[in-house]
Amino acid sequence: MTGPDSSAPVPPAPSPLPADRGAPSGDGFATRAIHAGQEPEAGTGAVVVPIYQTSTFAQDLPGETRAGYDYSRAGNPTRTALQEALASLEGVRHGTAFASGMAAADTVIRSVMRPGDHVIIPDDAYGGSFRLIDKVCVPWGISYTPVPLGDLDAVRAAVRPTTRLIWCETPTNPLLGIADIAGLAEIASAAGAKLVVDNTFATPYLQQPALLGADVVLHSTTKYLGGHSDVVGGALLTDDDELGESFGFLAKSVGAVAGPFDAWLTLRGIKTLAVRMDRHCDNAEAVVELLSEHPKVGRVYYPGLDAHPGSDMAAGQMFRYGGMVSFTVVGGQEAATKVCARTRLFTLAESLGGVESLIEHPGLMTHMSVAGTSLQVPADLVRLSVGIEDVQDLLADLSDALD
Ligand SMILES: *Cc1c(COP(=O)(O)O)cnc(C)c1O
Repeated sequence: MTGPDSSAPVPPAPSPLPADRGAPSGDGFATRAIHAGQEPEAGTGAVVVPIYQTSTFAQDLPGETRAGYDYSRAGNPTRTALQEALASLEGVRHGTAFASGMAAADTVIRSVMRPGDHVIIPDDAYGGSFRLIDKVCVPWGISYTPVPLGDLDAVRAAVRPTTRLIWCETPTNPLLGIADIAGLAEIASAAGAKLVVDNTFATPYLQQPALLGADVVLHSTTKYLGGHSDVVGGALLTDDDELGESFGFLAKSVGAVAGPFDAWLTLRGIKTLAVRMDRHCDNAEAVVELLSEHPKVGRVYYPGLDAHPGSDMAAGQMFRYGGMVSFTVVGGQEAATKVCARTRLFTLAESLGGVESLIEHPGLMTHMSVAGTSLQVPADLVRLSVGIEDVQDLLADLSDALD
């Protein structure tokens, strides 16, 4: 039997990553998605990073580990590979992978904010992020101001001496508003605050916020990065050594880390991110064309539309416009609900970013938690996560549901 050599080298322990590992190499994006942090394993030659499904690691002498790993909450080689791949795709040196996007969001807040501090959030923030700030952080002593982030003057006006964080989503969920990342980075830096960009909708394939000045990039890897609706995860990417260290410290101290199998599934998804995103964008563009001409559709929200208020900004900072499309249905909430119930291929479900197309009613589903607040979404709004099925089938399904 030729088992793995007990001295077989495994990927090095996380944080801080050596300066030359996470940084973008000369390789292109799709190449890094497949290879960054994912060298064939030296001991066995395994081409795919193994699932290191172990809680603990043998030591040769007390405190003397073989590859820097002692316990999987503190570090696990499969998670390290995912962290390196994600850092490379966002063009930064430090990556930390979490059990969910919300665990990543909580970690940013704990790293940067203390009771008495203030955060600026988008006025159409993701419902879960709004709930975290409004229901968890406010009782803890944090205050927040919702602002339309597309309006930099409004953001400047909302800055207080205690502002420590500007929370940006672009495109936003579900109205697909666009914020000027470089402009926000300038405001944050002048205020002595950090800028975090939730890049879940765009993915690093379409937009790389750190290269535009964001201090932290946040992902729900549950969505496009995982890409197959089979895993929940989150990540923080930063080029700031202090923040990178803080994220790693909090991950191991609080313990909301990505398990080995979840990290592995996410890594597998990332390998095809570039080809999937191209198809998501192609299909979304065709869906937008159909909806824009449909008599039962009121308004279509998509950053690639000239009529979209953020289209110029989006063209400047995004490669393409993604797979998310929202629209209003003539006839109000009842008509919108009916469309959601009548599609056959678009599955009525929360979440987004998987290969399969999904449809939902934000007001009654993902954005229930903002009902009655300034972040409330239109009652006649429908949100699509356009998948990578045959586009003619998707168009036929939507036409049938609208007729
Ligand atoms: C889903 C989502 C989150 C939360 O991520 P989870 O993995 O569900 O915890 C955060 N931000 C955005 C934009 C999301 O779509």
